[in-house]
Parts: sequence; structure tokens; C-alpha cells
Amino acid sequence: MEKRQFQAESKRLLEMMINSIYSQKEVFLRELISNASDAIDKIYYKALTDEELTFNQDDYYIKVVANKEERTLKIIDTGIGMTKEELENNLGVIAKSGSLAFKTENEIKDGHDIIGQFGVGFYAAFMVADVVTVISRALGSDEAYKWQSEGADGYTIEPTEKDEVGTEIILKIKENGEEESYEEYLDEYRLQTIIKKYSDFIRYPIKMELTKSRKKEDSEDEYENYVEEETINSMVPIWRKNKKELTTEDYVNFYNEKRYGFDKPLKHIHISVDGTIRYNAILYIPENIPFDYYSKEYEKGLELYSNGVLIMNKCSDLLSDYFSFVKGLVDSEDLSLNISREMLQHDRQLKLIAKNINKKIKSELQALLKNERDKYEVFYKSFGRQLKFGVYSDFGANKETLQDLLMFYSSKEKKMVTLEEYISRMPEEQKYIYYATGESVERIEKLPQTELVADKGFEILYFTEDIDEFAIKMLMNYQEKEFKSVSSGDLGIDENDADTESKDEENTELFNEMKDILAGKVKDVRISKRLKSHPVCLTADGEVTIEMEKILNAMPD
Ligand code: ADP
Ligand code: MG
Repeated sequence: MEKRQFQAESKRLLEMMINSIYSQKEVFLRELISNASDAIDKIYYKALTDEELTFNQDDYYIKVVANKEERTLKIIDTGIGMTKEELENNLGVIAKSGSLAFKTENEIKDGHDIIGQFGVGFYAAFMVADVVTVISRALGSDEAYKWQSEGADGYTIEPTEKDEVGTEIILKIKENGEEESYEEYLDEYRLQTIIKKYSDFIRYPIKMELTKSRKKEDSEDEYENYVEEETINSMVPIWRKNKKELTTEDYVNFYNEKRYGFDKPLKHIHISVDGTIRYNAILYIPENIPFDYYSKEYEKGLELYSNGVLIMNKCSDLLSDYFSFVKGLVDSEDLSLNISREMLQHDRQLKLIAKNINKKIKSELQALLKNERDKYEVFYKSFGRQLKFGVYSDFGANKETLQDLLMFYSSKEKKMVTLEEYISRMPEEQKYIYYATGESVERIEKLPQTELVADKGFEILYFTEDIDEFAIKMLMNYQEKEFKSVSSGDLGIDENDADTESKDEENTELFNEMKDILAGKVKDVRISKRLKSHPVCLTADGEVTIEMEKILNAMPD
């Protein structure tokens, strides 16, 4: 039997692969199961055009068998199998994907169920095994072959016997090292967990023979072991199901199962897009702020699946910072399984999906505001601050997205109102959107500076959070109306200027005296046009208002 060498590049690649591409060893199982699923898909696609072939769903499955004594783990599939040539070409040449070629050759445009396309996944097996054996019989052939390799050295191929079409991959699991343990990959429970985690939504059953224990018949306290075959994966993911078949309870259950939060979601968003980009997503807007939301530990992001297989737990590129509270997942057929974090960042598909998703979140929030005001206010109480922060941090670049989602307390309505509602009530002579800043609604109500504006019958928005005024400064205006603080020098309200000017002159001496006493604390002392019942108030002239100055001064350098 001749021993063939991997191609030189392959050798280097293989070593690199084994040591660096995958951060977690456990993903080897995900890769092998995905390949098995691809192999079954290929029969399915062939059956679509080949009249002699029928595809009977029940005949197709994947089986995972662990044997602790032999230290072997087998992954068996009833898929399309490989000929001798295919074994050589697909497993002997790294970065060669038989699956990608299959899609091209068969002109499968919507063959998006087939996962493989990079031709590196298989080698992940060497992370946990020192010998990998592949026994395969291709569809339409009586011959079977055995491919075997101990890693970078190369591989052997020889004829063998196999009763049924399909592939059997046998991993000789490595001995435990000084620091590493491989034993776990022979443990039934651990294997089940890995399958559930990464491959729960593979469309074919992944079976395992599980050792169970039961009471012996006619015995009180004697137990016996028996073996039972079980399907580990749930196969159809909720996001692939038809929205019409799902109830709110289904979505809430999924939210809990996934441990997205301890609360109940305020709203779920189920998206199925089948256009130039294809993806399914389920997103949730939580009711409460996650306990670690404002800590460094909080990581935004959505789970990312490639065609039912988990590739990333928290893909942060999918969510804008201002929507960082959104939980959920995205599954796309257009993403490859073994794409790295770095590559993802530049992935065009992913960018499109992210854009799409953020648009959708915005429109759903707007719908919530319009149709379920109470719920929106609950949401806004939890996450309004994040939206305002979004306006502020991107220098108003997200203005269009966010401005209609903002709310502030209104002097007139005595409740939260949107900017649009404010504008719609504005009298014609009112030039600005007025606001007042303070610690609380009660405090602001007592501000002398609000008197003139309120007296004119103009509505005032109350800014009670630090971020409010900073965010508004970034917006600059809303529907062409500028924002104006009630404590700014010029309020844009017509008064009898001649009258106050003469009064200013009359009192020059008194004011100069006052200025001397308050030197370094105020810039000027003037007659005020805005007071009614209060004797005096502070105003600011520049861009930075008194409240902003306070906050800026309080910030650590
Ligand atoms: P990819 O899945 O990205 O194509 P892999 O390294 O995982 O790359 O697999 C390489 C190729 O080997 C696959 O494209 C496929 O042609 C073939 N292959 C791997 N596992 C199986 C299997 N269980 N049954 C049939 N073909 C397989
Ligand atoms: Mg693969």
C-alpha cells in the first residue's frame, strides 16, 4: 500500500489549521456533522432531477457513536459517499471543497442548504484525533474505500467492504496530554451537549446510542443498563417556521430557553428575507435593562448561524451601538461556516444583513410607539438613554434613524411626548423648540427661567437626564426648528425691547455694584424680560448652557 504525501502547501496549512483556526476543539464535531448533512443534501438534490432516485426522508440520518474502550468516536452518515478519486481530491487536498464544486456543477442556485465551501472543516478532526479513518461508498458504486491519515504525514487509501452507501468517519481520540484532556470527546453527555449547541438545527436526525439505567424487573433496588437510540437535535429551528404557526408563547419560551434575559421580552421581531440576501432572524426587545448593561462586561451582539449551524455566539457587527439591547439570532445561508471573526467584519453579506436588521428594528420601534404607546414607554424608560447616547456619540449621523424615537416630558401634556407631537402643536409665532434642564420634573417646574415661555403658552420639554441636552445639541434641529434652552440669553420671543433697554440704563449704577460683588461668578447683570413672579434668574449666552457646564465640570479629566 503506497503512502501518498499531502501537497506541500497542504502540509503547512494543516498544521496552521490544527493549531490556530479554531479557538475551541469541540467544533470538530460541528464540522464533521455539517459534512455529513451536506452529503445527505447532495442525495436530496440528485433525487430532484434523477427519476431513478427517490428520497425517502426516513432513510437518512447521522449517527454518533463513542466507544471508550477502543477510544474511538464514529460519525456515520447515509449520505452520497465518496469514490476513490473523491477521497483523494477532497480529503487529500486541503482547501478544496467538493461541496462547492457540487453546487457549481449541478448549477444549484438555491443549493443554500449545503454548508461546505471552504474545504478546511474536515481537518478539524485532527485537533482531537491522532488517526482519522474514512470509510466511504459512493452512491451508484459497489466499491468502498478506506482513507486513513495520521495528520501532516500524508494518507493511505485501500479498498474495503461497506454494505451501504455513505460514509463512516472514525476518530482515534488522542491520549490525554499534560494540560489537555481529550477524554471528554468520548463522553456521551458531553457529546450530546456539543451537538445541541452547534448542530441542533441540522435538518436530518443526529442519533446517538445512549446508555441508560432502569430498575430490573421484579426487583426493588437492582438496576441494569440498557442502550437506547435517541435523536439529539431538534431539527427545525423556530426561525425557519412559519410566523403564522407560532404563538407569542412560543417566542417567549424560546427567549427563556436561550437565556436572553430573566424578564419577558417586550416584543419579538421575526424576519424572513429571501431576496438578494437571504436570512432569517428572531430578535427581541427586552423589557428590562440587563443587570450588566452598563458594565464593561456587557457585550452586544446576536447569535450568528450559517444555515442552521452556530458560528458565533455574539456577533457584534450585526447591531448598532444604540440598539445594543436587542437580543436574538440571525441565520443566513449566504455565510460560510468556517469564516473567522476578522473575515466577518469585511463580509459584504453580513454588512447588508446588519443594515437590514437595524432598519427593521427602527421600524418596529416606531410601530410600537404608534400602536402600543404604553409598551413603548416601558421600553423607553429602560433604553431611551441608549437611543440618546446614539444620537450624541455619532455626532448626529444617526439623526434620521433615531430622532423620531426620542421622547421627553412635556410641560403641557404632563407626560412623555415625541418631537413630532411637539411640533404638531406649535403655535405659528413660536420659532423654537423650548427645553429646560434640571434634576427632576418637580425642580424644573419651579425654574424662574420657564416663566416667560410658559406664559406665552409655549410647550417646554423637560430634560432630566445628563445626556439629554448633549444629544439635542447634536440633532441641532427637528423639522427645521432649532432647540432653545429657556435659560439662553435670547429666547426669540418678541418683547418691548426699547422699554427694557431704557430700564437697563436707568439702573446702570445698581447693576455695576452687583457685578462687582459677583465678580468671577457672572458676566453681566441685566433687566430680564422673562420673569413674572421670580425676582431673578441665571441665563447663558453661548452654546454651552449652565446645566451642560455643570456636567462637564463634574466629569473626570
Ligand atoms: P467543506 O465542507 O467546506 O467543503 P471540508 O474540509 O469540511 O470542506 O470537506 C471537504 C470535502 O470532503 C467536502 O466538500 C466533501 O466533498 C467531502 N466530504 C467530507 N466529508 C464528507 C462526507 N461525510 N460525505 C461525503 N463527502 C464528504
Ligand atoms: Mg465541511
